[in-house]
Amino acid sequence: MTEKQHSRLHQQFDQLLQELTNRAALSEQSSRNLPLPTEAGEIVPRLWEAGIDDVKLAQALSALFKRELFNGIVKDRDSLVRSSNDRCPWLIVDRVLYVSNPYDRAQIEPLMRRKNDPKDKLKFEKLGILAMSDFDSDLVVQASYDHGVSVAEVSGAWAKGFVDELLNEAIALRASDIHINPESHGGVIKFRVDGRCQVCRVPGLQTIERERFRLVSNNLMERVGKQNNYLEPTSGYLVFQSAHKQVSMRLEMAPVKIYSEIQPKITIRLLNNQRGVNKLESLGLSPLHVAQLRSLGHRANGMLVVTGPTGSGKSTTLKAILKDIRDSFPEKAIYSIEDPVEDQLDGITSLEVTKHMSFAKALRSLLRHDPDVIMVGEIRDAETAELALRASMTGHLVLTTLHTNDSHGAINRLRNLGLDNALMAENLMAVTAQRLVNKVCPHCSSMLPITQSKELWAKYQHVPELKNPDILVPVVSNKEGCQHCNFGYTGRHLVCELFLNDPLAETEIIEGVPSNEIRRQQSQRGVFNDLWDDGIRLVKEGVTTLEALENKINPIRVARAYRKADYGKPVGRAYTKADEALLDIEQA
Ligand SMILES: [Zn+2]
Ligand SMILES: [Zn+2]
Repeated sequence: MTEKQHSRLHQQFDQLLQELTNRAALSEQSSRNLPLPTEAGEIVPRLWEAGIDDVKLAQALSALFKRELFNGIVKDRDSLVRSSNDRCPWLIVDRVLYVSNPYDRAQIEPLMRRKNDPKDKLKFEKLGILAMSDFDSDLVVQASYDHGVSVAEVSGAWAKGFVDELLNEAIALRASDIHINPESHGGVIKFRVDGRCQVCRVPGLQTIERERFRLVSNNLMERVGKQNNYLEPTSGYLVFQSAHKQVSMRLEMAPVKIYSEIQPKITIRLLNNQRGVNKLESLGLSPLHVAQLRSLGHRANGMLVVTGPTGSGKSTTLKAILKDIRDSFPEKAIYSIEDPVEDQLDGITSLEVTKHMSFAKALRSLLRHDPDVIMVGEIRDAETAELALRASMTGHLVLTTLHTNDSHGAINRLRNLGLDNALMAENLMAVTAQRLVNKVCPHCSSMLPITQSKELWAKYQHVPELKNPDILVPVVSNKEGCQHCNFGYTGRHLVCELFLNDPLAETEIIEGVPSNEIRRQQSQRGVFNDLWDDGIRLVKEGVTTLEALENKINPIRVARAYRKADYGKPVGRAYTKADEALLDIEQA
């Protein structure tokens, strides 16, 4: 033992004596008379020999080393057998085997074999308390429990309770995802709430002790009915019933390497933990966008694409449109193909993509089921793109999503997926792009003239729709946030732009004009408002701040706003009679 280890040992011993004195388990006098231990493993036996109350000793150790304590009782001090192998510490007291980690089979199984061997002198009847985890360098009392209950029962019940609490809490916080991350010291739990990933703040749910990490993952794997060998990525589903609602969840497990060990990294997506499927009007779209999307949904054929990054609420928008179609045309045959199915809606038949059924395979099959409307959750490959376009050409309404930066970007994306310009021009009705911006907390912000903030005014005084010094914008005054919010923001709001494929754009698509050029021309003609325009509407309404908006909208678009004067388009355009006329043309 090195000098350093020695002084650490004495320090621990002194701390323990102090703790025992505080608990009146030991007098100052007798504590001075105790001989110093020469190794960590001597500490507890020494104190037992000195006649210290077992329960108080266990409590002191537990308090000192910050570990949990169940009903820890050590009954007899006469028969103490100790492991001679420092790497596999165990202890037998009064025919009870104490191990540092009762869930470690590698540690327990050899002992169990010895127990059953009549020639072996090792005598114990029960597997019991968790005691010193490391005899050589550190002294840790972890936990002990009532001898009447078996290890399996205790661990299973504990894990079930923990996971129940975890899932309930995630539902209550409106989390969209739960992350359970293995780290060298145990597990760390994070929730994604309002798009922001954060360490769980609920006491007792922030971390999982190293020894219990596998119990939690085993319990989760059991709930999704999967084998838990943790050798290959696995996914599965579970339905969890909380006090108020039933939430379906998709679990993903990937084995990750933590130094020399393999540990499961688990991510759980809460599939319908929001308010269910909204009406088109309650998504937060501008009245013009609601009217446009509704009229597009009522057409008999064509393709409508919703774009945006992952987690921007694309499928929420599509589902709201599907619901709107269903409510207006209950006789229509409506199908959706999703990965995974997020919200079930009566009257809409949903297919789920699996390893046996791709989007393309599902779509090909659905076309033989006499559909009117098909939602294709996502177009990822040329085959699906081709099938979706063909469906829209042959008398079906196809709604789908793509990953692009802006609405016009879908044109280039579909070209890259091999779609013919002429066929696309004819059948692509419209493309929206959307983002979710954080809503400002009304408790922590106020509406101020934009000139009050030097920073904001310097930045935006040349932007046409903001250069009026009388404009009021929300400013977060309390950056710490309050009990209703996270750092001044709570919940999210949709920001949307909508590209309608009008006759001029159609010609440009056929001619192969790049999508950004089509976008520029539509802006110039005043028939297109972009994400920034829609965001400014929300800033002026006090829904979100300029900072939150910039955070979510591609900086290039923001930069575009500075140059907006170049576009010479009408400013502050509202929903007018002229738009209704445009809609009528579109419907014809
Ligand atoms: Zn508040
Ligand atoms: Zn607040």
